[in-house]
Amino acid sequence: MVIARNVAELRLAVAAARKAGKTIGLVPTMGCLHAGHLALVDLARREATCCVVSIFVNPSQFGPKEDFSKYPRPFEEDCRLCEGRVVDIIFAPGSDFYPAEYSTWVNEDAVSSGLCGEFRPGHFRGVATVVLKLLNSCSPDVAIFGRKDLQQLAVIQRMVRDLDVPVRIVAAPTEREADGLAMSSRNRYLAPEDRARARVISEALRRAQALVVAGECQASVLLAAATRQLADETAFRLQYITIVDRETMRPVDKVTRGASVIAVAGFLGETRLIDNVDL
Ligand code: AMP
Repeated sequence: MVIARNVAELRLAVAAARKAGKTIGLVPTMGCLHAGHLALVDLARREATCCVVSIFVNPSQFGPKEDFSKYPRPFEEDCRLCEGRVVDIIFAPGSDFYPAEYSTWVNEDAVSSGLCGEFRPGHFRGVATVVLKLLNSCSPDVAIFGRKDLQQLAVIQRMVRDLDVPVRIVAAPTEREADGLAMSSRNRYLAPEDRARARVISEALRRAQALVVAGECQASVLLAAATRQLADETAFRLQYITIVDRETMRPVDKVTRGASVIAVAGFLGETRLIDNVDL
């Protein structure tokens, strides 16, 4: 496994893989890898013959009051996990990935405005920018993103389409803990009592899903049922709950099977959690 510390080293390693006739699959991450990330790696290895995992805690997607400095960075453990999954190249650039006087940004103006975009100003500008930099640095054939970050996936798909980026984006399903909580590097921030409470999030989403299966398609009815369930857990502070079209992120009044998604964000203690399920 090659560990590339800058763009030049990454390009050398990718060029060698290409010369050996390999196709390149990229899995962008911020490290602190868990089974959700590793499922993306497994998918990358099915989609391409050389798997690159990037590990970079991207400062430009954190707000001033967010957890950039305390975001966990267990790099050695991440390398061990990647090695176990037969990753070919780790790309772990330093802070000079953004050179001095960096001043170029990618702004997606529609998909990124609602949901998390409303509560995390500048977040998707940081995400789109770093993902485009990673795609330009690596030139993969395919890049894998998790559906757990629903709006991030939609922003990246839109950016790749709008800017003619020559890459295929593949979406991976959300990996969950045994009690349904979506896996996330931030789950380790949860105090034990909040970790136990966190199951309410996926339960509320699944309640809406069950109502759709039973024939309900009015978004207002589904949202009321899910919100009631969330309210039972008084420690959970809801930020938003919405039903949107998975590509445009626009709220819908009526569910279209296969196209509509129910998404939620909120806090347990200081930890912000997001989740979504297909309807
Ligand atoms: P992060 O390290 O949080 O930036 O996530 C890196 C990638 O892993 C993103 O594409 C996420 O959507 C994806 N990811 C994070 N958590 C999960 C999960 N529980 N299941 C599947 N993919 C995930």
